[in-house]
Amino acid sequence: MIYKQLAYIPIIFQVDEAILLSVPELLQRNNFYFNKVVVVSGKSFSSNYAVQLCQNNSWTHFVLKDNTFAEVERLKQFSETSNCDLIIAIGGGKVLDVVKRVSYLTNLNHLSVPTIISNDGLISPISVIKNHHGKTESISGMMPMGVIIDLDIIQKSPVDYIRAAAGDILSNISATNDWILANKEKGESINDIGFHLSRSAANALIYFNRKVLKDKAFLRMIVQGQINSGIAMSLAGSSRPCSGSEHLISHAIDFLDLSKTNVLHGNQVASISLFTLFLQDKLLNVHVEYALATGIMLNFTNLLHSTDKLTLQLLYQKAREMRPGRFTILDMITEDLFVQRVQAFGVYMQEKVKP
Ligand SMILES: [Zn+2]
Repeated sequence: MIYKQLAYIPIIFQVDEAILLSVPELLQRNNFYFNKVVVVSGKSFSSNYAVQLCQNNSWTHFVLKDNTFAEVERLKQFSETSNCDLIIAIGGGKVLDVVKRVSYLTNLNHLSVPTIISNDGLISPISVIKNHHGKTESISGMMPMGVIIDLDIIQKSPVDYIRAAAGDILSNISATNDWILANKEKGESINDIGFHLSRSAANALIYFNRKVLKDKAFLRMIVQGQINSGIAMSLAGSSRPCSGSEHLISHAIDFLDLSKTNVLHGNQVASISLFTLFLQDKLLNVHVEYALATGIMLNFTNLLHSTDKLTLQLLYQKAREMRPGRFTILDMITEDLFVQRVQAFGVYMQEKVKP
């Protein structure tokens, strides 16, 4: 049977312990039957998982070297000449993105089995591919027909990735506040389901009582939160439910190369969310407690090379240019007020951590 992706949301969602080897069963249970399956992985640890899956089912293993256009082409040719009817992507974001792209180009179904969770690209029709200048480009990809997440695999992944995933979800609160503002000020329409899905995904984590990153129960909530965020964006037809002023500032920091350390996107955006919530006058104690419990940096300016007035002004200007048309709290304040609020935020956070 051939499943053609018409909907914007994957059909299979399965998050559980030790389910890697149940992939064939999950397909059958959903009435999907394939003749020739190619399992694509990266070179290192995702390769071991792919080998296990292939051995059990006599499927073909394909190892990707990188997330370049050349690799997209190599996999495209391989899947066409091998006559496969399903690609299973097992690995980190790079593997998932290359497969999404190949699936888009060939119209082949694919299934995602992530081995790490760290950002909001898990469920999205966007592929980030590296061009021959070494720069990444965000281009169209196909939404996976299913996402299968093995909690044992995620638990073994580096804790910093888990923290980034837990952190990125804090931006849902700041982003949805911006969305309300855009609705009030500019009449932008709000997709109710997308709005509530995004917000409840974040609140389920913020109000969870045992926030231990490697605990299975919390991990399950983080994974579910990412899935719900992805669905929220699909329903809204844009990243609006999960991306507001905090993402604009984060993208501007990356664009201007202002960060002194190489911090994961989710961690950076989480720190900035605390500040944008402060700007919106919506920062609650539970948000700060969430950051403390998960190890998110309280004051995002500690990430920057410099916090002088000129740098902050530049940051504000660039943030406002990052995504024309996305109305946020940044459009409600002046450059000078932004600088003042950054300084006031620093003082506020210092008070918070005083013993
Ligand atoms: Zn993000």
